[in-house]
Amino acid sequence: MKITVMTLFPEMIEQSINHSIMGRAIQNEIVQIEAVNIRDYTLNKHKKVDDYPFGGGAGMLMMPEPIYLCYEAICKKSGGSPRVIYMTPQGKPWKQSMATEFAKEQEIVLLCGHYEGIDQRVIDEIVTDEISIGDYVLTGGELASLVVIDSIIRLIPGVIGKQESFEDESFSDGLLEYPQYTKPRIYHDMEVPEVLLSGHHKNIENFRRQKSLENTYNKRPELLENIEFTKADKKWLREIKEKNNHL
Ligand code: SAM
Repeated sequence: MKITVMTLFPEMIEQSINHSIMGRAIQNEIVQIEAVNIRDYTLNKHKKVDDYPFGGGAGMLMMPEPIYLCYEAICKKSGGSPRVIYMTPQGKPWKQSMATEFAKEQEIVLLCGHYEGIDQRVIDEIVTDEISIGDYVLTGGELASLVVIDSIIRLIPGVIGKQESFEDESFSDGLLEYPQYTKPRIYHDMEVPEVLLSGHHKNIENFRRQKSLENTYNKRPELLENIEFTKADKKWLREIKEKNNHL
């Protein structure tokens, strides 16, 4: 997969991608990430990329031309017209299901805004998807694009060792993950739940499913609205609700 980030601050991307799992995916050539400086595509001698908004108002806006020329150069290099994702607080809230969808693409381009944002005309012209990482405003799209890149890359086959390591994770089946434990068996007088030491796979699976339901019920109850429950799930949920009523 090739990911190109259009940005005014390529070093913000470059400094963050060469670590941990993302760095390994790049080293193993499973993914290629390139940060392209929009400023390199300005036509004026001062390399100015922003100007005042027509109609007045605070702040500066990124001008359309350098962004379009930068996009054109990326398309020329790729020989196609990849999806262009504009990182914006006005976009669709980023979700695991969207990361799964984007992980199937061969090539994507992420567009990072700065200042007060970007001239609407070039957004209308080149952007295929608008994505937000949450209902708050960042100073630029670079951190947001790193969040999106990280969550996509780990889903590409071969990046994380065993496929199972994300199959049970929060959101993969619509629920939050169950609590997990490692050594030591007793820590500050707290013991690892007995069932996890039993080696009984079915009981462990049931315990984890119940805990997943309980976690979701307690922390993000709205997620339960989209789940198709089994008969056993319904029974466990009744028990969880009863337990909570008695607290
Ligand atoms: N004036 C814009 C508005 O009110 O919608 C906000 C501009 S923001 C200060 C500058 C840039 O940061 C945006 O163009 C976008 O690329 C990025 N950004 C800010 N918040 C974001 C968020 N929640 N998700 C994704 N990108 C964000």
